[in-house]
Amino acid sequence: MEDKYKLASIKNHPKKTLIRLGRTVVGGDKKIIISGPCSVEKNMVEIAQALKKAGADMIRAGAYKPRTSPYDPQGMGLSGLKLLEKSKQKTGLPIVTEATGIYRVESDGKLEKVLENVIKYADIIQVGARNAQSFDFLSTIGKMTSKTKKPILLKRGLSQTTDEFLLSAEYIMRQGNKNIILCLRGVAPKTKETRNTIDIEDIKILKKKTHLPIIFDPSHASGRRDMVEELSRKALDYGADGLLIEAHTEPDKAISDAYQTIDMKTLKRIIEFAHNH
Ligand code: PEP
Ligand code: MN
Repeated sequence: MEDKYKLASIKNHPKKTLIRLGRTVVGGDKKIIISGPCSVEKNMVEIAQALKKAGADMIRAGAYKPRTSPYDPQGMGLSGLKLLEKSKQKTGLPIVTEATGIYRVESDGKLEKVLENVIKYADIIQVGARNAQSFDFLSTIGKMTSKTKKPILLKRGLSQTTDEFLLSAEYIMRQGNKNIILCLRGVAPKTKETRNTIDIEDIKILKKKTHLPIIFDPSHASGRRDMVEELSRKALDYGADGLLIEAHTEPDKAISDAYQTIDMKTLKRIIEFAHNH
C-alpha cells in the first residue's frame, strides 16, 4: 500500500535527503549539533562565541517565542534577529530561528511581519510544535521558500503520531520546498517527571518511513537539564542525525526555559561525543 505522505516517504525516495549549508551537512555522516539559549539574549553575540568554542555546528535562539502565557516574555523580535545576524558574522555559524506566525502584534499595537523577517535572517526556519498542525501556515512557508528552498526545521506537533508528523512535512514539501529536517521533542501528555513523554524510540520508527534527516531535542522532551546529556547520547545511539540543545553561558539567567538549559561545559562534552559518534 502506498504511504499517504508521498513526498516524505522512503518508499518513493530511497535516497536520504541531505541538507547543505555551506560546509555543514545535515543527514550526512557527521552528527550536527544545533544549540543556543531558548530566547535571544542581550549578550547573544558573547553566547554565540561560547557556543562556537564548545564546538556547536549551528546557533539557535528565538527572536519570536511561542509562550503559553501572553504575560511571559515573547522574544525580542526584529532586534533579536539583528543580534543573531551579528552572532553569525562573529562566528561564521548558520542561524536557526523560529517563525511563530505570519504576523505578530507588538506592544505598540503594530503588526510585525514575523515570517517575512525570519525568512530574511534565518539560515534555517524553525516551525514549532504548536504550529506543526497549522496547515495553512505550513503551506504558506512552503510556498514562500519554494524558490530559495531555504531549509525548514519542523518540530513534532504536541501529540502527533509519526504519520501525522510526516503529513505536516508533506504540506511544506508539496509547495516546492523539500529541504526539511524533522525534530522530535517529546509528545504530550507529559508524564510526572518530565515535561513531555520522551519519544526517542520514534527516531528508529521514522527512519524506516522517511528519507528526511531526523534530529532530537532532549531539552524540550525532558524539560530537565539533568537528563539532557544522557538523552543526547541515547538519541545518537538510536540513529539521530543531530541534536537541538538549549545551552547558555549562565543557564540560570536564561529568559526562558532556564530549568532545561545546560552550561557550556556539559554542551562541550555532548558535542565531543556526537562528533566522534
Ligand atoms: C523551542 O524550541 O524553544 C520551543 C518552543 O520548542 P517546541 O516548539 O518544541 O515547544
Ligand atoms: Mn525553549
